[in-house]
Amino acid sequence: MSLESNVGVSDAVLLDPITEDAFIDNIHERFKHDLIYTYIGNVVVSVNPYQKLQLYTHDVIDEYRSRNIYELPPHIYAIADDAYRSMRDRNLDQCIIISGESGSGKTEASKVIMQYVAEVSGKGQDIDTVKEQLLQSNPVLEAFGNAKTVRNDNSSRFGKYMDIEFDYKGDPIGGVITNYLLEKSRVAVQSKGERNFHIFYQLLSGADPQLLKSLKLHESAQDYVFLRNGGNGLSSATDDAENFRIVKNGMEIIGFSSEEINHVFKLVSTILKLGNIQFTPRVNEDGTDGCDIGAENEVQEVCELLGCSKELLDAALTQRTVEVKGDKVKTHLKNNDAYYARDALCKALYSRMFSWLVQRINDSIKVILNSLKIDTKGKTKVMGVLDIYGFEVFQNNSFEQFIINYCNEKLQQIFIELTLKEEQEEYVKEGIEWIHVEYFNNAVICDLIEKNNVGILALLDEECLRPGDVTDTTFLNKLNQRCAQHPHYESRSCKKTQSDKSLPHDAFRLRHYAGNVLYKVEGFIDKNNDLLFRDLSQAMFSCKNPLLKTLFPEGNPSQKSLKRPVTAGSQFKISVTELMKNLLSKNPNYIRCIKPNDDKKASVLDVNLVRHQVRYLGLMENVRVKRAGYAFRQSYGIFLYRYKMLAKETWPSWKGEAKEGVKLVLESQNIPSEEYAFGKTKIFIRNPKTLFEIEERRRDK
Ligand code: ATP
Ligand code: MG
Repeated sequence: MSLESNVGVSDAVLLDPITEDAFIDNIHERFKHDLIYTYIGNVVVSVNPYQKLQLYTHDVIDEYRSRNIYELPPHIYAIADDAYRSMRDRNLDQCIIISGESGSGKTEASKVIMQYVAEVSGKGQDIDTVKEQLLQSNPVLEAFGNAKTVRNDNSSRFGKYMDIEFDYKGDPIGGVITNYLLEKSRVAVQSKGERNFHIFYQLLSGADPQLLKSLKLHESAQDYVFLRNGGNGLSSATDDAENFRIVKNGMEIIGFSSEEINHVFKLVSTILKLGNIQFTPRVNEDGTDGCDIGAENEVQEVCELLGCSKELLDAALTQRTVEVKGDKVKTHLKNNDAYYARDALCKALYSRMFSWLVQRINDSIKVILNSLKIDTKGKTKVMGVLDIYGFEVFQNNSFEQFIINYCNEKLQQIFIELTLKEEQEEYVKEGIEWIHVEYFNNAVICDLIEKNNVGILALLDEECLRPGDVTDTTFLNKLNQRCAQHPHYESRSCKKTQSDKSLPHDAFRLRHYAGNVLYKVEGFIDKNNDLLFRDLSQAMFSCKNPLLKTLFPEGNPSQKSLKRPVTAGSQFKISVTELMKNLLSKNPNYIRCIKPNDDKKASVLDVNLVRHQVRYLGLMENVRVKRAGYAFRQSYGIFLYRYKMLAKETWPSWKGEAKEGVKLVLESQNIPSEEYAFGKTKIFIRNPKTLFEIEERRRDK
């Protein structure tokens, strides 16, 4: 790759004039020349090339090592390097926040960062082991947590935050992964043209005949109901068999025992088999409706895989124990209820197994650390990388999209807070002359969703906990009553949108920062309640397969407490709030990903699609604030301490006001006065190049 590129401008702050058209032209022009990265100050804008470019080779990494961010063409490596060095040398914990809609390239970007950090940080047998584990967690978690959607062939269906920990020398000594709500409904149902999670197909096409036989599986995905409802189960962009090998190898490197790997695959197989069970209605002796299980052989095989009593599993799948005045009474499940319970079991099995995998990876890294005697006692520093599911709009949007889009609202909120709001407030606070740049603040939408007692999540919980006849419709009625006035809420029964025929009666529409999304309310109550009949959790706990005891602790018969678990929505809100707090405590670095077209095509950039993203991401506002503002700021004392050697008046010691000293230093360097401004407590420098120059002079002194 050539270091020089003179296609357009590499930093949008240099555009003249600063208009949306000029911004998009610039990105477009660069995209045509395979220059997919452009800066806005220190924010990287990345356009998904949908093709392999020679951007990530060892040579390129070498070029970017320890170079200042503006010395080379824009690249994620430059941001990664900057973050890494300020963590190591200035002791600042970092986080890299990657955002953009589904298919814009977030997950790829997060891997580019990890690859860079792994290459530039220290080497040695012990450290390499940790690095390898961290890197191998990617294919493993992608196999179990990603799936083909209509938006993206490898779409993340869970949120992931990874803290990479470093010692004082900047060598990686560990990592902790946190996962956020997996879209588990996909286990049982996929929309047209979509697939189940990759691992199902990988296992079927990659496992050798012996393994398949031991798992009692057939090779063909067509044989499994859970794999065929989205279409033919094929995906042109993935090589399932090859990926299976990679995943299995990854699990081994991370430290999963062959027994554990086997247990995991047994659960995967169990889910496929449970999916093939059919129920047929029957009338019980007492005249009530019940059902029988068809496909007995599948149940038999599940029992063999899990080490479960067939009688117990049969009963758990078709009956439910309820307590009536302290007595346990068995009631029969109607046909549909049995299907519902079966699906709930499969979803619980899968999502709990996924969380267990994440936990297991974290534990494994810890165990390795202990055995390698890497000193983790000293002060560690952290670099967090956030890669979540992107904003998405489908034909049918449900609770899952609501949660995913809520998370994206929160991330946008952080971006606004830090790059548009706080930045501008700081100028005002420091008394720097400033003309306010207007922007849309999405806090109003976050409130609509999450505000205590009145937000949609709170109303959903209220409805889930209310005794009596609760349905998705009563929930919608509640929303209609309580949110009708909100400018970002619309439904058929709101006055303002009554006549809008595009709004069905069983849905509500939110005006998200990134666009309008219509949510069908069907399933909201169930998905938020997230309950599993106790008979099923007890059946799972009773299995010989040890993993199941870990996954279904509430199935332990000696466990008395039947406290209602926190709802899925509340749980998500709690973890997102924690995540935001965590991100805000670190120095943020941003990668804003843009999707060039809706067809996953290389070399095609749909200007309107890009314009829409540029607008909702608030990129123009970002450019304007950066352009009018100052790239660098530091308190007078710290600045003077570092650069006082440059001026004879301030060297070796300066007795006067720090601000005066800084002034003398800058004047001694003949820096034009429009390049800096004096705040109340800090010096502000407009152009990063000025700072690099001063730094160089200091080094040469
Ligand atoms: P989601 O929110 O659905 O998880 P995402 O933003 O994580 O989406 P990715 O999975 O990273 O999107 O990217 C989608 C696809 O685009 C990738 O599988 C890959 O084919 C292609 N792609 C993304 N970034 C790059 C890149 N830098 N170079 C080459 N191809 C890329
Ligand atoms: Mg992704």
